Amino acid sequence: MKITIVAGARPNFIKIAPIILEIKKRKKGGDPISFRLVHTGQHYDKNLSDTFFEELNIPDPDINLNVQSGSQAEQTGAIMQGFEKELQNNPTDLVLVVGDVTSTMACAIVAKKAHIKVAHVEAGIRSGDMKMPEEINRIVTDSITDYFFTTSNLASSTLLSNGALDENIFFVGNVMIDTLMKNLPLLKEPTIWSQLSLQKKEYFVLTLHRPSNVDSLDSFSELLKLIVEKSEGIPIVFPVHPRTQKILTDAALTFDNLHYISPQGYKSFIYLIQQSKGVFTDSGGITEEASILNIPCITFRDSTERPETCELGTNMLVGNDLNKINIAFDHLFSSQWKKGQPIPLWDGNTSERIISHILNIYEG
Ligand code: UDP
Repeated sequence: MKITIVAGARPNFIKIAPIILEIKKRKKGGDPISFRLVHTGQHYDKNLSDTFFEELNIPDPDINLNVQSGSQAEQTGAIMQGFEKELQNNPTDLVLVVGDVTSTMACAIVAKKAHIKVAHVEAGIRSGDMKMPEEINRIVTDSITDYFFTTSNLASSTLLSNGALDENIFFVGNVMIDTLMKNLPLLKEPTIWSQLSLQKKEYFVLTLHRPSNVDSLDSFSELLKLIVEKSEGIPIVFPVHPRTQKILTDAALTFDNLHYISPQGYKSFIYLIQQSKGVFTDSGGITEEASILNIPCITFRDSTERPETCELGTNMLVGNDLNKINIAFDHLFSSQWKKGQPIPLWDGNTSERIISHILNIYEG
């Protein structure tokens, strides 16, 4: 059977790496499975794309649709046009999409309209926040998906209550954690480690790129000031997402202990997280990684589509609620942060389970 795998943005690359590795392994072992990799070009910056292909040993894409930047609608339209041609030229048995980015939704729609089955990895998660473009991508994708691969029992129940059939929902765990576990022995000290004289457990890592936090300069600068003030002079390392960089160029937001750096490669970034005293973020994937690495994680969002990172992991949602922010920093500085518990099936073997299910569906 032939699978077309779609990836368009940084978190997608981290999710497809172990799936591709598993397909190659099965193929070598004689299973009738092959794949074609489509890069939509949604993220095209070297630091957000090429670096991940190199570091995570992802093969070069068979095609790059090269959509590049644009509004949500422009990118969606361009991806759909490119992917429609791709499917016409390269027939496939299954289109596999991961995560919740524009490429996920756009390619799922095109596949479904071409009567090709769609598999969604990381299906069923919901933040309930319809202002997040990702939430719309999740809902649309899941409404037309044929095979759902979920990270939690809650995600599976959500799909069931939305009308998906039990026999098409597979609780398999988390592919992000496959990549994390595979790369833990390979982490590398980033070049900024010595440049900034960083010391183990004596700095924080910050990432912010969600529109709700960075699109308004006023609220973004207020949030940065607050984080700096609460950090009591401890260095904060901030790998800046290109989306965030756009607003920073207009602003003089300098603080003695805040160090802006470029987006890091995966092995350097996870190294930074693992050695840090804590992480401040609005990313979803980072809350999962911090939880498994048992690193305190403060999330500057009001909701999460990954509640297990709060209930079992090390994540705490604070949004912009000053009371919650004060409590979080008190816990952090008094070393009272909760310990991460194991999260069911986040064990490094998720890709193996996904490919076994797909082979079962297609080969019986
Ligand atoms: N990441 C990285 N370098 C960075 C920042 C993040 O490798 O400088 C990785 C991080 O470890 C996680 C993923 O990128 O695996 C998260 O991506 P992002 O925050 O863009 O997406 P989200 O999780 O919010 O969808």
